Amino acid sequence: MNASLTPDTSIQFIKGIGPKRAGLLHKADVHTVEDLLFYFPRRYLDRSHLMNIGQLPANENATVVGRVYSVDMIQGRKKRLVVLVGDGTGFLTCVWFRALKYMTTAFKPGETVAFSGKVNFFRGPQMVHPEYDKISDEGEKDTIHTGGIIPLYPSTESLKKGGFDSRGFRRIIHQVLADLPPMPETLPLDILSEHRFMPLSECLYHMHYPADWQHLKQAQKRLKFEELFYLQLFLALQRKKYIIEKKGISFEKVGELTRDLVQHLPFELTDAQKQVLRQIRQDMKSNRPMNRLLQGDVGSGKTVVACICMLIAVENGYQTALMAPTEILAEQHYLTLHDWLEQFGVQVALFKGGQPSRERTDLLSRLANGEIQVAVGTHALVQEGIEFHKLGLVVIDEQHRFGVLQRAFLRKKGIAPDVLVMTATPIPRTLALTLYGDLDVSILDQMPAGRKPVRTAWRNEKQRQAIYEFIRTELGQGRQTYIVYPLVEESEKVDLAAATEGYEMLKSVFPEFRLGLLHGRMKGEEKDAVMQDFKAGRIHVLVSTTVIEVGVDVPNATVMLIEHAERFGLTQLHQLRGRVGRGGHQSTCVLLSQYPLSDDASKRLETMTRTNDGFEIAEADLEIRGPGELFGTRQHGALNLKLANLVTDGPILEMARKEAFDLVHRDPELGLPEHQAVKLTYHHRYKGKFGLIEVG
Ligand code: ADP
Ligand code: MG
Repeated sequence: MNASLTPDTSIQFIKGIGPKRAGLLHKADVHTVEDLLFYFPRRYLDRSHLMNIGQLPANENATVVGRVYSVDMIQGRKKRLVVLVGDGTGFLTCVWFRALKYMTTAFKPGETVAFSGKVNFFRGPQMVHPEYDKISDEGEKDTIHTGGIIPLYPSTESLKKGGFDSRGFRRIIHQVLADLPPMPETLPLDILSEHRFMPLSECLYHMHYPADWQHLKQAQKRLKFEELFYLQLFLALQRKKYIIEKKGISFEKVGELTRDLVQHLPFELTDAQKQVLRQIRQDMKSNRPMNRLLQGDVGSGKTVVACICMLIAVENGYQTALMAPTEILAEQHYLTLHDWLEQFGVQVALFKGGQPSRERTDLLSRLANGEIQVAVGTHALVQEGIEFHKLGLVVIDEQHRFGVLQRAFLRKKGIAPDVLVMTATPIPRTLALTLYGDLDVSILDQMPAGRKPVRTAWRNEKQRQAIYEFIRTELGQGRQTYIVYPLVEESEKVDLAAATEGYEMLKSVFPEFRLGLLHGRMKGEEKDAVMQDFKAGRIHVLVSTTVIEVGVDVPNATVMLIEHAERFGLTQLHQLRGRVGRGGHQSTCVLLSQYPLSDDASKRLETMTRTNDGFEIAEADLEIRGPGELFGTRQHGALNLKLANLVTDGPILEMARKEAFDLVHRDPELGLPEHQAVKLTYHHRYKGKFGLIEVG
């Protein structure tokens, strides 16, 4: 008996586990009884949907559940293990040629096992090297026949060897559920009753022993909600800590300068830009630090919004900084800001790597004494040794991992500056609510007037000459063209070769035009020189690796030809396409793909030809890749969600967010008696478990 079992009991004290087997579970991050109960099946088999062995189709994948009748090692030209399985409708032969020593002891007659694999016929149905999951032993039927649903647990080979296959997990969990007093509730009672959620204890039971599909769905829904609720609680507390509690700057004045700037712009602001500026103005005016995400598809005109905000900071006597992810972009922003702000006598400076130390020392001292009002650079701007006189506003362009940077700023400075993060990567709402869940969000959902949507054509090698002729026509009319080669991380040299060779070849295709080459190995000044020539129209065709991906703005360019388009990700393709269609001329993006094409690649290219809408593309991307891979979050530990799925669980996420933010609003310290369980659960179960977004 485990009479004294509690949720915190170490698993090695569960009857039948012991230190050695506990060690195996530790590797799966299962340490306590509670962890074990939260170790959920990876999928569930529906008995009524299983195939009968008697009706298995040839050459298709199938899952059957049957009883092992015999286990034989066949000696012969090719030694193999043959396991005969029956389910009352027929017999299936499962064959293994590998790992025979281990496999010989893997099955015993009388066991019930699920086998999944491709079916072929050789004197009857057979599967070679099927996946298998042991479900029960003879005589265990009562604990197994749960509404015809068979839970299959995530298990590694070494876990299986240690007895933790699906059957092993079910045995142990069954015993724990029988011996453990009901688990204390982890959600506030009012939330439970409002949403009619199943109580925790019941949920845990149905996750492992579902009575039927309906109970299982209800249990899953509540546990997904719980997971997302604690994630959003983290974000709500974060927001409280960084925004609500900190005192920020109140920018009172919007005066002459700002009005003048708007009047001198060569265009009228769009309604969306005006609307967003009103929201930002309110943030800047209030004495809480602004923490705002400005989302706007490529070409929607974020830069001018940033520029106006920066001018407001300057008018109020503060310095402001703009950070870009690459030097090329920093340079471009510098030129734009310089252009727009010079007329008002505003001092703008560019900080970049490799500046002569004399020049740098000079810049640094002018920044420290407040002479430089607008500083532009890469994140080198937050390096040690850079001191501002009076920093009031930080704008971060195209930055996904802003959290780390922002906090670096906050730590350094006495008062919290306002922060505006701009991103062109359209983030699906569900992901925005998690990755940027502690920010306010503004959206530029309107393109400047007169823009014509970019046409997108998906072509193959056979059409290359026709593409070149099309480009020649555009160039003949005074337009410009980008030709982009992919960058494959494994070998920078090979890519370089592709772009360089392409460049040489293209020179003979377009002898009458001037071509330029741009790639990541070039020195900063060389890159700048090429970009400047392209901007000024001195170069007609820019051949490049993906260094131009983000933010580059040359309105006269109307053709974007992407070589090996099948190698690019969707977001990247969308970004690249966004380099054209920035002026009044009709623009075209040509996706030139090579065979073979994977399914995913075809889906990506098809999506690109179907829509120009960044949000639709982001949704498609999320579906094709899954959330973990977006924004390079995979490298950073991703979003460690166990049950919830950001693609399909949007409605649950919205619900969880509302409840969590309401709760923190009503009880910021989680001090009320009815919130003690929440506080405990948050610190004990969830805090620190969400991966990336908790960085910094
Ligand atoms: P992004 O949002 O991708 O950073 P930019 O800020 O680079 O876009 O703007 C794209 C182009 O549109 C720039 O040439 C910019 O000067 C221009 N632009 C911005 N706002 C407007 C507007 N309201 N009307 C016309 N052109 C605009
Ligand atoms: Mg931009």
